[in-house]
Amino acid sequence: MISRENIIAAREAIADTVHFTPLLHSDQLSKRSGNKLFFKAEHLQKTGSFKIRGAANKVKQAVAQGATSVTAASSGNHGQAVAYIANRLGIPATIVVPEDVATCKMEAIQAYNGKVVKCGLTSAERLPKAKEIAKEENGVYIPPYDDPLIMAGQGTIGLELLEQLEDVDAILVPIGGGGLISGILTAIKETKPSVQVIGVEPQLANDTFLSMQKNQLVSIPGTTTIADGLRTSQPGELTFPVLQKYLDDLVLVSEEEIREAFRLVLERMKQVIEPSSATTVAAALFAKTSLRDKRVVSVISGGNVDTDQIAALLS
Ligand SMILES: *Cc1c(COP(=O)(O)O)cnc(C)c1O
Repeated sequence: MISRENIIAAREAIADTVHFTPLLHSDQLSKRSGNKLFFKAEHLQKTGSFKIRGAANKVKQAVAQGATSVTAASSGNHGQAVAYIANRLGIPATIVVPEDVATCKMEAIQAYNGKVVKCGLTSAERLPKAKEIAKEENGVYIPPYDDPLIMAGQGTIGLELLEQLEDVDAILVPIGGGGLISGILTAIKETKPSVQVIGVEPQLANDTFLSMQKNQLVSIPGTTTIADGLRTSQPGELTFPVLQKYLDDLVLVSEEEIREAFRLVLERMKQVIEPSSATTVAAALFAKTSLRDKRVVSVISGGNVDTDQIAALLS
């Protein structure tokens, strides 16, 4: 299991690569939610999502150990992050994406000089392909969440939050494979355990919710939630024990609630966020938690969304 020390080390390692992102506030959304609502703006992060934190930590160490290329299997944000950091460090990156990848995400990978390989529709098809390419090239495969360096990199958000809002009461975090929340849990619970950390999943991708209920890894069939960053079929083997140890609560949101939260953030706050991040806003706005009159941070994990997708979300 990772520790707070790993996260402090990660923060130092990636300081020259990532932004210390702002904490936004909205009076209007606060009023609606019954709490004082803040937003950790990772949609304004380099590459448009928090994924650069873990990717930079992992790829930097791989290069320090002699890696001359990297590969990743990602439907978008993780792929962009790996391509960006590899390019910056001067090594090639190959990113295996699904056949139906969003255009903006594919173009962003290519803009960072990443090589795009399309393969299948599920991560079960992409993952072996990325590992195979890594093996052929003598490169290093960079996993999206189930890796100590990735988890520690994502956890740097927790350290920043404690500096930005000293008297924070609760933090809402979206859950895909659990890299983001396991890092944040470690940073928060090993620094200020009184702060509540609450996970959020779409009802349509409730693998972690089911796993927590059963106290073991539960796998769900492929899902179509609009929160495309949260479509993992089961929690990670390394991330899940951290949730079992520290997680305070886990709430579910519907597709319509995700859409409504997206619309409100666009209209009231003039911020473009992606559906995966709108889940935490939905959890705050639609009273999914028992929090009242508290200082609550919604982690806005990313903002990579196609204009076509924006139009669909608004219609
Ligand atoms: C990857 C991702 C998530 C989920 O992160 P995990 O570490 O897989 O739990 C949430 N939001 C966005 C925008 C992402 O790209």
